[in-house]
Amino acid sequence: MPYSDARVGLLTQHGKERVLAPLFADPLGARLEVVGGFDTDTLGTFTRDVPRAGSQFDAARRKAQLAIELGGVPVGLGSEGAFGAGPFGFGGWAVELVVLVDRARGIEVGGVAQGPCVHVHGVVASHDELRALAARAKFPEHGLVVRLAEDGPIVRKGVRALDELQAAFEEARARADDGGVFVENDLRAHLHPTRMALIELAGRDLVTRLSTPCPSCGAPGFGIADAVPGLPCAQCGMPTDHALADEWACVRCDAREQRPRPGPGTADPRWCQWCNP
Ligand SMILES: [Zn+2]
Ligand SMILES: [Zn+2]
Repeated sequence: MPYSDARVGLLTQHGKERVLAPLFADPLGARLEVVGGFDTDTLGTFTRDVPRAGSQFDAARRKAQLAIELGGVPVGLGSEGAFGAGPFGFGGWAVELVVLVDRARGIEVGGVAQGPCVHVHGVVASHDELRALAARAKFPEHGLVVRLAEDGPIVRKGVRALDELQAAFEEARARADDGGVFVENDLRAHLHPTRMALIELAGRDLVTRLSTPCPSCGAPGFGIADAVPGLPCAQCGMPTDHALADEWACVRCDAREQRPRPGPGTADPRWCQWCNP
């Protein structure tokens, strides 16, 4: 294994080592070390008070680079989440990315996972409305933020207890001009078990890639980079937009390889633009 006994720094204030450290210990045999002394919220927050610069990958890579510099370790790990509306506009959706930067080998490897993610937000004017929103937000397992308005000042964040939530609501209601109080899920990983589970899956994807050497240069991190469309229609045999194969790529050299995708060898005719337009 390429990272057996390696020191890997992780920049986090939000307890991500809880799910990532076991993955790096087994199967990689690496030692994950939490790098502190840096406020990751200065790189961007989910409460929108500090906007994130650059792409999600840039943000995760920046944290990995800081882990190397601040932790004095050869390899760094950073993680970043992104949130949006779910498919068909229902519910929330999260994409979690974990990026490893290995300066000695000159590589960057990313692991990704995505799925439904509770991300409830809204204005509440009464304790009944507050309780209803809290239930939809899967409180108290998931933490909440109470603020005066959607982009207004934060009254309290990281709320995990009902009496604390009610006190924050009362305080915000007294301060808000119109009596409306904005409440939303606290998306920080240690307060959001759904996110934490996705971060673990992204870490698993990363560890699988790191365990797969490039067939050409031997660098760790050989993995799926693209889908190749063209799965034949089960009825007429013409190519569809569904994936026929995956394109695997190296993170260091130009090696690329198409590998058949496991699963059914044909596509449902309802996706066929030839026989079922
Ligand atoms: Zn067809
Ligand atoms: Zn290679």
